Amino acid sequence: MANLLVDMRDQQFNLYEMLDIEGLSKYPKYAEYSKDLYDAVINEAEKLAVNVIEPTNEIGDKEECQFSDGKVTVPKAFHEAYKKYVEGGWITISDDPEVGGQGFPAIIGISSGELFSAANFAFNMYPGLTHGAAKLIEIYGTEEQKRTYMDKMYAGQWGGTMCLTEPGAGTDVGALRTIAKPIGDGKFKISGTKIFISAGDHDLTENIVHPVLARIEGAPAGTKGISIFMVPKYRVNDDGSVGDFNDVNTGNIEHKMGIKGNSTCTLNFGDKDDCVGELLGEEGKGMRVMFNMMNEARLGVGVQGLAHSSAAYLHAVNYASERLQGADLANFRNPDAPKVPIINHPDVRRMLLWMKAHVEGLRALIYWIAYCVDISEGTEDEAEKEKYHGFVELLTPICKSWGSDMGFRVCETAVQVYGGYGYTSEYPVDQYMRDCKIASIYEGTNGIQALDLVARKLGQNKGANFINFITEITKTIESNKSNGALKDAFAELDSAKNTLAEMGGFFAQCGKEGKFLVPVGNAMPFLELMSNVTLGWLLLWQASIANEKLEAIKKDKGITDDDWAGLVELYKDNKDASYYQGKVAVAKYFSAYILPHVEANAKAIKKEDMSIMEISENAFATY
Ligand SMILES: Cc1cc2nc3c(=O)[nH]c(=O)nc-3n(C[C@H](O)[C@H](O)[C@H](O)COP(=O)(O)OP(=O)(O)OC[C@H]3O[C@@H](n4cnc5c(N)ncnc54)[C@H](O)[C@@H]3O)c2cc1C
Repeated sequence: MANLLVDMRDQQFNLYEMLDIEGLSKYPKYAEYSKDLYDAVINEAEKLAVNVIEPTNEIGDKEECQFSDGKVTVPKAFHEAYKKYVEGGWITISDDPEVGGQGFPAIIGISSGELFSAANFAFNMYPGLTHGAAKLIEIYGTEEQKRTYMDKMYAGQWGGTMCLTEPGAGTDVGALRTIAKPIGDGKFKISGTKIFISAGDHDLTENIVHPVLARIEGAPAGTKGISIFMVPKYRVNDDGSVGDFNDVNTGNIEHKMGIKGNSTCTLNFGDKDDCVGELLGEEGKGMRVMFNMMNEARLGVGVQGLAHSSAAYLHAVNYASERLQGADLANFRNPDAPKVPIINHPDVRRMLLWMKAHVEGLRALIYWIAYCVDISEGTEDEAEKEKYHGFVELLTPICKSWGSDMGFRVCETAVQVYGGYGYTSEYPVDQYMRDCKIASIYEGTNGIQALDLVARKLGQNKGANFINFITEITKTIESNKSNGALKDAFAELDSAKNTLAEMGGFFAQCGKEGKFLVPVGNAMPFLELMSNVTLGWLLLWQASIANEKLEAIKKDKGITDDDWAGLVELYKDNKDASYYQGKVAVAKYFSAYILPHVEANAKAIKKEDMSIMEISENAFATY
């Protein structure tokens, strides 16, 4: 089945040729799973994504969510898609069978999630948030809370959200003002206003359970005083059925640039002082609990960037192969020369190769992180567990921010490839771009991700996670030093990797010398630097596998590198050969055009230029 959402050949390459996910079955947790099962799941996911969910994408954008009489309705077409999604058990695809899940490795959840996200991200947020909220209850809830809430959420019968943001507490969550008054029996009266709550109200499910961050009366200011409460829209009767309204009022929904099929709500808790919530976990540990959901959501946002960019890229390639405009370069002076598809023009090919490099680089990154999750959860070897968990921790800010920043830029470049038509709503790329933009803002803005990377993640585990990561890259370089076709590209990666290691040391030194503004002010340039090294490493790792396979095909067919006609025919007729050639081309391109930016970034950072702080506020603009 061909689709313009996800390059399934590339997905298969990541799963089986690069990561060997069949090897995960050596861990007891995944012993019962096999390639046949994985492929069957992905095949079903593709069918659901293409046949059922994707047709709702444009409808969701045009119809939007509606708010009337205090209630939100989603675009009508979402109901059937939601029913099928829930029936397929997709919410708990990677959860423990003990909680009703199917127990598949996280990487299979991510692979199917990429398809659903590309098909309609606004739709996918409803079950995605439900899963995240239910997971909190699974980890921190009492048995009673699990039976009351979690079971129904995992089953898709009830929805879920995450309620952090308030008008005066966006990035600064610690400034929140929502209050919880104890009324005994672990219950609290909740009062306050949360804004921008995704899936905050809708008519897909009979109830919605809100994990709400609030401060118990008298608790200290800042994040230390925050606890988390489960607050259902409707109370739950003793027999588990939906009871009375719980005074959770939707004040409004936002009218926004993208993801219009997902409701973004203002929620007023306790307008009539009749909103009851239950404490989840311990008092004062609300941020720690919520971080579980935020980490899951941050990987989900990376998938959002990947999914939008993947779909935008495939549409752009398709359009560029069909759109006739201008003559071939060799004939450009001849007005009678036949018109060629724009994919023939060097500048269009430049855009497409840049997009391909980032889409495939992001896919490799996100799938590798999911694979690390699987190893860390599968292995019983403590050192291995710590190492792979460390990679997940270190790379989560990169996944979230580079996934969203590059995802958006790929979508924007897709609009450019389409030319004027890209700017119209006749083609889907403008929607991908609009839908993608939010990814760099929510779940902790990208600027905050960069600070998290520099201030927390680099030094985490006494710097061992960062050092292990550098070692991992070094291993790939060492085993490819004499790789003829990719020798120069690996040399460039080696130099970029050394620069990354050096910059880690430089920031540590700045910290020791009390020059905190250098790493803080340069957090984003550093994140860019590290992201480029990371993508470069993954793309070259892939290219080394692809190159070997390509050489084997050429040898088998008796085609040598100087046989141009033979090579042209090979890439035309043999899908594997052209796929592998693409992998090698992308890696060479990335090392030639992107990796040199690593050195430039490092040079800029090391100047310790403080213009950003020296410029007075009045000098930014003269009104
Ligand atoms: C469509 C949509 C859906 C959302 N869904 C949810 C949801 O489901 N649940 C939820 O709780 N919230 C949600 N949000 C809220 C979102 O997480 C916040 O908008 C985001 O955290 C930023 O907060 P803010 O808008 O108040 O911006 P601000 O915090 O005012 O930030 C503005 C700018 O200043 C920067 N900045 C602020 N403080 C610092 C600092 N200390 N250091 C460096 N830079 C800083 C930010 O990076 C940003 O660039 C959603 C928002 C939107 C638009």
